[in-house]
Amino acid sequence: MSPRIKKIEKPRLRMAPSPTGWLHIGNARVFLFNWIIAKKYQGKLILRIEDTDKERSNLEYENDILESLKWLGINWDEGPYRQSQRGDIYKKYLNQLLEEKKAYYCFCSQEELTAKKEEMISRGEVYSYDGKCRNLSEDEIKKNLESSIIQPVIRLKMPEKKNHFNDLIRGKIEFDLSLIGDIVIAKNIDYPLYNFANVIDDAEMKITHIIRGEDHISNTPKQLAIYEAFGWSPPEFGHLPLILSSDKSKMSKRFGSVAVKEYRENGYLPEAMVNFLVFLGWHPTEEKGIGAKEVLSIEEIIEQFEVDKIQKSGAVFSPDKLDWINGEHIKLMDIDDLVEKAIPFIDYSADKEFIKKIILIHLKRIKKLSDLRELTKYFFELPDYKKDILVWKNSSESEAKENLIFATEILSSIDDEEFNQDNLEKILMPEAEKIGRGEFLWPLRVALSGEEKSASPFEILDVLGKSESLRRIRLAVDKVG
Ligand code: GLU
Repeated sequence: MSPRIKKIEKPRLRMAPSPTGWLHIGNARVFLFNWIIAKKYQGKLILRIEDTDKERSNLEYENDILESLKWLGINWDEGPYRQSQRGDIYKKYLNQLLEEKKAYYCFCSQEELTAKKEEMISRGEVYSYDGKCRNLSEDEIKKNLESSIIQPVIRLKMPEKKNHFNDLIRGKIEFDLSLIGDIVIAKNIDYPLYNFANVIDDAEMKITHIIRGEDHISNTPKQLAIYEAFGWSPPEFGHLPLILSSDKSKMSKRFGSVAVKEYRENGYLPEAMVNFLVFLGWHPTEEKGIGAKEVLSIEEIIEQFEVDKIQKSGAVFSPDKLDWINGEHIKLMDIDDLVEKAIPFIDYSADKEFIKKIILIHLKRIKKLSDLRELTKYFFELPDYKKDILVWKNSSESEAKENLIFATEILSSIDDEEFNQDNLEKILMPEAEKIGRGEFLWPLRVALSGEEKSASPFEILDVLGKSESLRRIRLAVDKVG
């Protein structure tokens, strides 16, 4: 168990999405870890929408984030707060830093900065602001502000020193603030930038632990400098490894779906998503593979979760593994609940009992609910297929026809009440053994389903019932001609 997390009772954590896109699977995973830690240690989870980027933030994305979080079962105790509604707070703190001379107005033009940057890069140096406006006199500042030729930005006076923090996941991380230089913390007094608004909110909201993606490690030194400027003690930080594609590159659209929304729409179960996501970068036991239980309920996950077991290296996203976990969770579902969830994925309206029967025979094969659409089509409409596929391997059309006719004779003699999977198997299998399994059962199954791959003939016969089954077999006989 992580000593650092353990000793903190009742941590305050937060989810801080920027509504600039559909909820990303990587962010969902970060939020899930926060949620689990909050649950595990009786903490509180705060939802804060970071919509300071006015051009890129949008309400449709915000709604998707809220909806996707709810779908995943990731609920929050406070919020949603919106940064766009907290402008006065940031302004107050920006003014404080300006008054205390810990931040300053910078009047350098974009052209000037770009030229300096290019020059430094050409000398092989890492760019940082040269501090030209750092020590302007009161008069110069006043004059520049009044001239209003250049809209000044606000920069933080970065202390020139080395510093470090102890990351909960990665251990000690050292950095040199002098290489970073005086960062811009606001475009103007009414437009704070991410690093600033983020720190103010985390401090105001009394966040004790910031658990976020590794892509934010480079922001942490800057944010720590802001805490220091105010004299606030910073929260703990833990940076989670990123999710990687199978080729070990950063997970991107090129590789597959990255929006939670797409998984929801494709019939993945939230409990499977949660189970899958938590295993990206975390494992309950040291031994992976054989014997390690990987299908867990959320209660089991919370129970077994330990921050110390979060790995440092990137976690590879395997779509096959997700499908497998989803299939396992589908099997665990109460069948009536499963029917309700499956109905939107079936394009035909039918009696629930009928749908239930169809689902039951496919239970072993379903990876996601949207698979049902293709897998079960033929139960609802007469299949359309080429007669060639009725013929088993080296067999012939005439043999297929003969065996189909034989099948109709046997099936016609079975009473409706006896027409169920077990009986059908008992009656038909001995015939299949005599004639040849492929020769007898293949044409029968294709006649019923029109598919080269489908449920077994006994299962289909059972679901379709005697008269519909006979009708389909006779149609197949006619097809062969
Ligand atoms: N709004 C930031 C993001 O979506 C939050 C980063 C953080 O957790 O501090 O990446």
